[in-house]
Amino acid sequence: DERTPPALEADDVQLRFGGIRALDGLSLRVDGGICAVVGPNGAGKSTLFNCVSGLYRPQRGAVRVNGTDVLGLPPHRISALGVGRTFQNLALFPRLSVIENVLLGAYQRHADGLVACALHLRRQRRHERRLRAEAYEVLERLELADLAEHDASGLPFSVLKRVEIARALVNGPRLLLLDEPAAGLPHGQVDELGGYISAVRRDFDVAIVLVEHHMGLVMSISDRVIVLNLGRCIAAGTADEVSADPTVIEAYLGA
Ligand code: ADP
Ligand code: MG
Repeated sequence: DERTPPALEADDVQLRFGGIRALDGLSLRVDGGICAVVGPNGAGKSTLFNCVSGLYRPQRGAVRVNGTDVLGLPPHRISALGVGRTFQNLALFPRLSVIENVLLGAYQRHADGLVACALHLRRQRRHERRLRAEAYEVLERLELADLAEHDASGLPFSVLKRVEIARALVNGPRLLLLDEPAAGLPHGQVDELGGYISAVRRDFDVAIVLVEHHMGLVMSISDRVIVLNLGRCIAAGTADEVSADPTVIEAYLGA
């Protein structure tokens, strides 16, 4: 439908850190499905996620989520607008149980920072039961329900990766940003993770932006691929199209 706004749209976004142009006039559009964002280290992929989720504020440009301008909004407002994300490095609390780690995601839409989340938790007690039920449902879909009361510490890395995805899903986002979910996984477990990501896409009806270096995973589950280099979009298309694009090949070899 032409009137449906894109899940994510960046328009001429510029963000500098001192002399570094992390994003240098970045424009892109994600309509839905699973869209991979790839590019050499330092291309600006995580910076893009930080701009979309409100952690960074670009000096110029526009970022829209489902047609709503999100620039300048604080992270919890953007979360409440239906954006979930994971981080390149796991951001789980080892002494909290799996379901508690997932519940933290439910508080993120209400309050900024963990202290505010903790205060909110007191006020929220009466909603606790409903939130737990929602979190449990997400855990079930990711085959984590049996581990709900288990401390995060001591669980295999591949399981923790899924817990992190579960936390990003607990608010029922319409846009899910995954920052290198396969990083650090043994080769043999990457396909399994890809299966979970595809299932999430199907079961939760969420648009997924997948930043990933693991090309096998990108090729197997993405509907579309966007290539960044030096803070700009240099190619977009199907996985086959972009991997045959000379500009893309040069960007990788020249990096
Ligand atoms: P990618 O995720 O594609 O590897 P990043 O988005 O992390 O790349 O980084 C893009 C560029 O911006 C890099 O040169 C990086 O060093 C720089 N950068 C990112 N965040 C910051 C920051 N908070 N302060 C200074 N420089 C940053
Ligand atoms: Mg990164």
